[in-house]
Amino acid sequence: MIETLQMSPVGYVRSCFKEKFAIPRQPQLAPAARGVLELIAPFDQGDAVQGLEQVSHVWLLFVFHQALEDKPRLKVRPPRLGGNQSMGVFATRSTHRPNGIGQSVVKLEKVEAGRLWLSGIDLLDGTPVLDIKPYVPYADIIGEATNAMACAAPVLIPVQWDEPALIQTREHEQRLGEPLVALIEQCLAQDPRPAYQNPTPERRYGAQFWDVDVRWHYPRVGLIRVLEVVLADT
Ligand code: SAM
Repeated sequence: MIETLQMSPVGYVRSCFKEKFAIPRQPQLAPAARGVLELIAPFDQGDAVQGLEQVSHVWLLFVFHQALEDKPRLKVRPPRLGGNQSMGVFATRSTHRPNGIGQSVVKLEKVEAGRLWLSGIDLLDGTPVLDIKPYVPYADIIGEATNAMACAAPVLIPVQWDEPALIQTREHEQRLGEPLVALIEQCLAQDPRPAYQNPTPERRYGAQFWDVDVRWHYPRVGLIRVLEVVLADT
């Protein structure tokens, strides 16, 4: 019986998400969330990705490198359940899990030798990827599948902009060549705030997307207003 395994990444993701906060809880929830999987030797050669241009989506198997723990947990508190209900780790997609392995189906935008251009990602910058597999619709779509704990995508809340913040964002969007307005709206609409926090309108929240810091608040429950989008300190 094999008791321990050693694995090495095939590459690392360069992602729009520079911190865990405000990353969607699953892939596909923010189509404007883009990144590049940079493959490392020997997988950085064209041979390793030959044929992938025929594929629209791929499964990524990766390591939650910023959530690794020495002691395995049997029960976790998924944020989706409000963070106050515990569940068996294997009933959840929690980042706190044995071996720290995550899996996401993401859209493959472009294939180059050594680089896969991705969208709809839910991965932090620097995420080590262990393997890549093509999505196979006839086998991977399960029409009758159910999950009573996670039966639908999160309910979206409206995102409004202070006019100067929107102007700032459009400027950064042009500079970056990335759909930044859409990215911010898609991520914030999922309400990244932990469920147990009841924010006052004065409380400010912030997260970094690409190289900009985005600051927002909740003028009332169920509404987000973006206040400022500025270059992050690097
Ligand atoms: N789709 C994957 C899965 O089901 O295995 C990930 C689901 S997990 C609930 C998604 C969260 O993982 C994101 O919201 C983000 O905060 C966190 N995350 C993403 N990449 C990570 C990384 N490399 N290390 C630690 N946490 C990460």
